[in-house]
Amino acid sequence: MKKKAPLAKNASARTLAKRVWESLRLQPDPVPRLLWRISAYRMLKRGKPWESIRQDALERAGQKCDICGAATPPLFCHERWHYDEKRGTATLYGFQIVCDPCNWATHIGLAGVRGHAEEALAQLCRVNSISRKQAQVLKRRAMETWKKRNQMQWKIALMPKLAERYPQLRPLAGGAYIGL
Ligand SMILES: [Zn+2]
Repeated sequence: MKKKAPLAKNASARTLAKRVWESLRLQPDPVPRLLWRISAYRMLKRGKPWESIRQDALERAGQKCDICGAATPPLFCHERWHYDEKRGTATLYGFQIVCDPCNWATHIGLAGVRGHAEEALAQLCRVNSISRKQAQVLKRRAMETWKKRNQMQWKIALMPKLAERYPQLRPLAGGAYIGL
């Protein structure tokens, strides 16, 4: 995996542009509240149709975390969703393999509730080569976006390439396929 240049440790949170934050490899990405019950994993209930998706993702990732490269189990198959706030669509566009600490960092709100907040912050620092202060800003930004998204109603959509590759996912979007 290509290593990105670390953020300058002394760069202040305020002077960093939005694109700098967005370029960091590990991003907290909390799921909007109204979508908590909607996921491919929940719909497929750990059966064979889910397992085939997970195995494909593991194979593509080389049995390692797609974000930090750790091979230590447990490795989770994380759903990648794109939230289009203008159109009000939540689109499932892919899957990635994440290790336990990257998983907590991704679900940083849940990490706080379940007692993994420190682990999540430490992983944000380590993977992104940022200071603890910067990791806290990254978290705060994500939580602000999350709160805004919690106020919205969402239509569920599926990327056409996923619908084609995994027909078992089609009921999730009720036939709504959408390109990003
Ligand atoms: Zn990882």
